[in-house]
This record gives sequence, structure tokens and C-alpha cells, in this order.
Amino acid sequence: MVDLIGQYNHIKPQINEAFQSILDTAYYIGGPEVKGFQADLEKYLDVKHVIPCANGTDALQIAMMGLGLKPGDEVITVDFTFAATVEVIALLNLTPVLVDVEETTFNMDIAALKKAITPKTKAIVPVHLFGQCANMEAVMEIAKQHNLFVIEDNAQAIGADYTFSNGKKQKSGTIGNVGTTSFFPSKNLGCYGDGGAIFTNDDDLAHRIRGIVNHGMYKRYYHDVVGVNSRLDSLQAAVLQIKLPLLDGYCAARQKAAKFYSDAFANCSKIETPEISDFSTHVFHQYTLKLDESVDRDALHKHLLDKGIPNAIYYPVALHAQKAYADERYNEVDFKVTNHLCKIVLSLPMHTELEEEQQQFIVDAILEFCK
Ligand SMILES: *Cc1c(COP(=O)(O)O)cnc(C)c1O
Repeated sequence: MVDLIGQYNHIKPQINEAFQSILDTAYYIGGPEVKGFQADLEKYLDVKHVIPCANGTDALQIAMMGLGLKPGDEVITVDFTFAATVEVIALLNLTPVLVDVEETTFNMDIAALKKAITPKTKAIVPVHLFGQCANMEAVMEIAKQHNLFVIEDNAQAIGADYTFSNGKKQKSGTIGNVGTTSFFPSKNLGCYGDGGAIFTNDDDLAHRIRGIVNHGMYKRYYHDVVGVNSRLDSLQAAVLQIKLPLLDGYCAARQKAAKFYSDAFANCSKIETPEISDFSTHVFHQYTLKLDESVDRDALHKHLLDKGIPNAIYYPVALHAQKAYADERYNEVDFKVTNHLCKIVLSLPMHTELEEEQQQFIVDAILEFCK
């Protein structure tokens, strides 16, 4: 699905040199690369505070801790996402409330969001799934009306631009009270291990979060709040510092590959290609097809694997239907779109090193199957 070795080969001398210098100083934790990357990312995102941490799941949990959410508070997120989003809500003894997504963009359905709000609702977690932003203008308006926090799960969309109806542009993840991301190797901005970050323009929240990531310490060995240990290490920060200036180019390469796929499938009535919303650029963390119900999706999945073509189903089971997150309050009719998407989606190889020849081979195999 990705070609991390091919990507590394383009930046090998810089990476090797940066790693060697860290090995020579043994400054593995808290080295200058961490502060350097933090400042670079603040500039790139045009956000006041970036707080690096150990992974994207921690980032979500720490954001919720920083906002002071309390057991019993309801947090609304989507039924169609990676489990990390809902997992941390449950771990903090908050009450996850899952809502359906839009058929066209795979992102939070605004009508479903409105319907799910109760007096206990405290926060909304839109997920910018597969690389494009949820309808943040609508989310922010609803949050303002009901006095709710907004936490953007930006693990899949770093680098995407959101445009408000007044023409104002903002980077994904910097619109809500707080945004989070993951630097897992296969993400659009990936390191060579685990990593994550939290972004915010709120000075007080940033201060609280800086303590929480470091055992609740604001002064060495004085623990004011219960925190966690969540750090980005120097080696990972060095990789990210080298890769951040390349991120826009990486996104462009993904967009070019996406266009190749979409053009190639344009005349196949059994395949629906990803739709790009007016208000967001799409950085194609995933390139996800929707197949007509007449296509045996699971057979196509196997057919492609047999030909040596990686492909994946993101996601095969809705979160509300997972054993860990079942809740008797849920009603199947409220998850029609997610239930349907789980049956018809198929994600194709998508990365920065795809060549047209490879893509043509993939396309031909799919079109042959969907004849
Ligand atoms: C990858 C991902 C995460 C979790 O990131 P990790 O770094 O793997 O913890 C959270 N949310 C979404 C939507 C993701 O895709």
C-alpha cells in the first residue's frame, strides 16, 4: 500500500547524517531536533502551539485530558474511522456517541451530529478521513451554539487546506480548539517509528497539555495534575524535520496518483471514485473506491492480492458494531451509510512513489474484474 523504502532512498544522505549525529551525541530524548521540528511545524501550520507526543492515539487522549473532560461527558465522533478515535474517549470514561457519515466524503454527517447533541454533550471529534476535511464551518457553528469543544482528528489529513465560505483558508487540524495528528510511518507525514502531535492556538490549553505529556509536571518533580509519559524522540523528530519541507510535494504526488486512478475509472459504471468537497483540498491518505453492489468486493480484494496488488478494506466493521463499543442506545437505522460503506469500500495503493506503469497494471486488473 505504501513504499517507504523508495521514499527513504530520496533522502538517504540527510537521514543518515542526522541519525549519525544523534548517535554521536546520544541525545536520544529531548534533543534539539524535537524543538526544531516543533517550531517548523508551528510555522507550516500557522498555529501558535505544537506539542509533540508519542503517537496519534496519545495525542487524542491528551487533548481530551487538557480540555478537562470529565467521566460521563458525552463526546460525539464518527462511526466510520480508525478505532483510536473512540478508544481514548472510552479509556477516559467519557461516553462515546457515534454518528453516521456522509456517503460522498466519508466524513461526519452534520444532520446526524445535530441529532446526537444532548445536555451532556461536551465535545465533538470530527475525523478528516482519508485526507480531506470534514465540514468544519458547520461543525464550528454547531459547537459555538451549544458551547462544545472541537477536537480535530487530523491523523489522515495533515497538509490539507480548508476554505471557509468567506474565503479564509486554514490548515486542517488548526480550526477547532485543538487538533491532533499521527506520524506513524505510513501517514502522509510519517517518521520511522511512532510519533504524534497536538496543535492549538489556545495558550492556556497549550500550557496544560505541555504538563500532561510530561507526567503532569510544570516544575521539575512537582506534579500538579495526573499526566502521562508521551514523547517524540530525537530520531523521529530528525526524520520529521527533514520530511516536513517535502510534505507539500508528497501531497502533490498523491493527488497526481489519485487523478490517474480517477481518470482511468471514469467510464466504469460499477466504480465510484472519491469525491472532493468544495471546501477542502484532498491529500489522499487513502484512495478509496466505492463499488457497485453487483461487484463481489471481497472476491475483488482476493483477485488483486493474487496478482500481487496490495489493497485494503478501511474499514470492514462500523465502530458501533464492534464488541468493545456496542451500546444499547444505538439504533441500526442511524448508521445506514456507515453500514453500507463497510460493504462497498476498497482502498488502493497510494503513496509518493507510485509510477504510472504500476497504476495502469492495478487499473487493468480492477477493470477486468468489474467488466
Ligand atoms: C492513525 C490514526 C490514529 C492513531 O495514530 P497512532 O499514531 O497510530 O496512534 C488516530 N486516528 C486516525 C483517524 C488514524 O488514522
